[in-house]
Amino acid sequence: MEFSLEEEHEMIRDSAREYAERVLKPESPEWDRVESLSDEGLAAAAEAGFMGLTTPEENGGAGLGNLHACLMLEEINRWDAGMGVTLSVHNSLVCSLLVRHGSQDQRDRWLPRLASGELLGAYCLTEPQAGSDAAAIKCRAEKVEGGWKLTGTKAWVTSGDRAGLYVVYAVTDPEARKGYGIGTFLVPATADGLRPGKKEEKMGIRSSTTTEVLLEDVFVPDEDLVGDPLGGFKIALDALDGGRLGIASQALGIHRACLEDSIRYAKERQQFGKPIAEFQAIAWKLADMATALEASRLLVHRAAWLRDQGEPCTKECSMAKLAASRACNDAAQDAVQIHGGAGYTTEFRVEKYFRDARITEIYEGATDIQRLVISRKILR
Ligand SMILES: Cc1cc2nc3c(=O)[nH]c(=O)nc-3n(C[C@H](O)[C@H](O)[C@H](O)COP(=O)(O)OP(=O)(O)OC[C@H]3O[C@@H](n4cnc5c(N)ncnc54)[C@H](O)[C@@H]3O)c2cc1C
Repeated sequence: MEFSLEEEHEMIRDSAREYAERVLKPESPEWDRVESLSDEGLAAAAEAGFMGLTTPEENGGAGLGNLHACLMLEEINRWDAGMGVTLSVHNSLVCSLLVRHGSQDQRDRWLPRLASGELLGAYCLTEPQAGSDAAAIKCRAEKVEGGWKLTGTKAWVTSGDRAGLYVVYAVTDPEARKGYGIGTFLVPATADGLRPGKKEEKMGIRSSTTTEVLLEDVFVPDEDLVGDPLGGFKIALDALDGGRLGIASQALGIHRACLEDSIRYAKERQQFGKPIAEFQAIAWKLADMATALEASRLLVHRAAWLRDQGEPCTKECSMAKLAASRACNDAAQDAVQIHGGAGYTTEFRVEKYFRDARITEIYEGATDIQRLVISRKILR
């Protein structure tokens, strides 16, 4: 058994940390205020190689694994969780989906443009009536000569207004039983009939934009259907295993931010003639936060390692997301408490971490959906 990181893992972690401290640390508060990432910030992420981390070298990426991606995402989320989810969706739900399920032709046509950052990826599964019950989507894909016509409304799409390539799930056979009869389509932003709809005003991860995506008779050629026209839901679930690792890593990053800022504040803030860190009630909170972070990280890294080995890991990815997101929310709660009144203001970043933490328990399968996945596996 080996618990230490390889040199290549450390290199990725260090370069992500350098980028995050140089670009995200100073920009994040302003991005949160204006509810958008800057083009320069995204371009710098692409320049650093973070948009093609898990894309094979032959397609312009770095050819690295899920564990590398988790290490990168923890560092990014340490300073800006909006950038974190943007890169997580791009890498795990779009690039990795193409690597795992795309044809050679699809990989050759789309991956180099995604890996270079020319195109940002978005993932369109959720609809207004189909959230946790994702198999209940209604967006329709009708077979026409040479391809498919897509019509429907996708909801809650991360990067919905700035993506260059959308992975869209649509019903190819309305008569098929639930979970079947769904196709996975690649739709460029330039396709006639596709446009972003309403933009959500969010509590946290505000630098990442979240919009509806409206599709009206959008023609998708046969060569941009990924895999079996009836088997798209299986692809969606497989991609979500990787996506959950991304969100679990987001939780690690926010959790670490809460811990580091709380340690600093507790050592500086004096009450009753001494630093509040010297009160056992505060010191024990910090000890619990640190222990929970280590435990979450072990679950996340093990699940990522399993996925890199090609082993089944649905249960482990759900466990990693469930534990890391719960622990992150506890840490955010404690971080605000340790900061007292100051933690309730925008002068200190824990207020933002508290808002950002909430989403880790909601998207890519809410907490109770992770429990559903895990309980089904262990009761089988
Ligand atoms: C900021 C943001 C970004 C997002 N980005 C994307 C994206 O890029 N692409 C995409 O496709 N989707 C995206 N989503 C959608 C996200 O994945 C869904 O919001 C999530 O799956 C939950 O669905 P819902 O919001 O409809 O909640 P609901 O499904 O309505 O759930 C509401 C509550 O009921 C609980 N619940 C539901 N069913 C059960 C059950 N069977 N047992 C126990 N409890 C249950 C849930 O756990 C939850 O607490 C995003 C969402 C947000 C908020």
